[in-house]
Amino acid sequence: MQSFSEHYINGARQRILERESVCIYDSTTEAPLATVFLGNRDDVDAAVQAAERAQPAWQALGPDKRAPYLLAIADALEICAAELAHDVSREVGMPIKLSRRIQVDAPIAAWRATATLADTFQFTRVVGNSRVTLTPVGVVAAITPWNYPLHQITAKLAPALLAGCTVVLKPSELAPAVTQRLIAACEQASLPPGVLNIVQGDATVGQALVTHANVQMVSFTGSTAVGCQVASKAAERMKRLSMELGGKSAALVLPGADLARAIKATVGSCFLNSGQTCSAITRLIVARQDYALCRELLAQAANALTLGDPADSNTRVGPLLCAKQRERVHAYMAEAEQLGVDLIAGGMDAPVPATGFFVAPTIYGNVAANSRLAQEEVFGPVLAVQCYDNVQEAIALANGTQYGLAAAVWAADTDTAETVANSLRAGQVDINGARFNPAAPFGGFGLSGLGREGGDYGLDEFLEPRSVQLPEPAY
Ligand code: NAD
Repeated sequence: MQSFSEHYINGARQRILERESVCIYDSTTEAPLATVFLGNRDDVDAAVQAAERAQPAWQALGPDKRAPYLLAIADALEICAAELAHDVSREVGMPIKLSRRIQVDAPIAAWRATATLADTFQFTRVVGNSRVTLTPVGVVAAITPWNYPLHQITAKLAPALLAGCTVVLKPSELAPAVTQRLIAACEQASLPPGVLNIVQGDATVGQALVTHANVQMVSFTGSTAVGCQVASKAAERMKRLSMELGGKSAALVLPGADLARAIKATVGSCFLNSGQTCSAITRLIVARQDYALCRELLAQAANALTLGDPADSNTRVGPLLCAKQRERVHAYMAEAEQLGVDLIAGGMDAPVPATGFFVAPTIYGNVAANSRLAQEEVFGPVLAVQCYDNVQEAIALANGTQYGLAAAVWAADTDTAETVANSLRAGQVDINGARFNPAAPFGGFGLSGLGREGGDYGLDEFLEPRSVQLPEPAY
């Protein structure tokens, strides 16, 4: 069994002195996988001090000289990409083929894409007689979840470092493996001491970071419940905030759309990573007259998914992270079934492997708009189908939760789909199966968060504009 017992502070690995730990389990075998030792306030303080000391020199380097460090980190991560994919797959339960592409290759590409912004992003702009300099916010606390561990770490670290900020990262204690490889990558990249510091820990470490007087910004990804606590604490000192939170995203299928494609894509999105995806499409909104056909196609698509060991290349859906997540998902399913929803696929009694934290891909129809299943994030492989009688009602249903992270619109033509997309309160809307764009801003309306990650917008979050008025027009 592995032991994660090191922080990374001021360019050095530091043994965690605190004896408190959590045990994590292989999501498929349920065997103990690793012990993760947890840091404390003193560790946070040492890390923040190191970040503060390193910040002026890091800022002074300028984006052109910072970008090569991002590329070097990407190169170092690439060398251990296969191991990373394997580690995440065992921790989180994502099938190995998808894990390599989504959990590892995509974040490595994001380190590289962010580095290129050094050449294209305008760090200095002229506005009338003002020269506006976008200057780094300072010391950033980055707090990340477990479901796409390297991706979420990268979405914060790469732009923060390019912007000239220094960072203290608190990754999720429930998916620790990528952190160790990231430390090794920083060493290989010869990142100057203190520019990135990593403190392993749980909520206690997170709280210590959020409330630390010398942290200027908190960039948080996680649940809405924790995000709200973090935001209110950070607001006491007017810290800059970037919050990537939960979702209850809908696919809206308009009359005349290609139903078969819409269903294939919805099932793919909902059950990706066993539903442990913030932007997963977890509601399908269809015209009442299409419900019977839709029901049939959904059942076929869900029943065709192979549930099993993520290490097996035929597996499409693996287990959930841990027993607690499975219990949480089961509670939503039990409540829905008691309320008498239409069971289209899966369900509480569906067969699953005897060992592992599995939940069968499940689809419920006739889900009431005010039910918990239609309103709350389940974070498991459960799709809720809702019916509408006219397009206005469909839009109201799609917008009818407090979240607003992602959405999909399917229509007979692109123009109609785009018109409807523009009436949705969601940060990311895909129309007719359009592909994900990592350079486009990613983030949410409402309880899904504050601010955006990705591309120029993601870099902007870590910069403060300073306007200097010049005596003559600055042309
Ligand atoms: P979580 O909120 O339980 O934990 C997130 C991080 O916050 C972890 O590192 C955790 O240790 C830390 N933390 C917990 N309590 C804290 C506190 N009081 N103060 C400071 N830090 C604290 O979330 P999770 O279970 O790790 O992740 C799943 C959630 O993350 C889901 O709700 C999912 O939708 C969301 N998520 C959102 C996005 C996005 O981009 N919008 C991406 C991935 C995941």
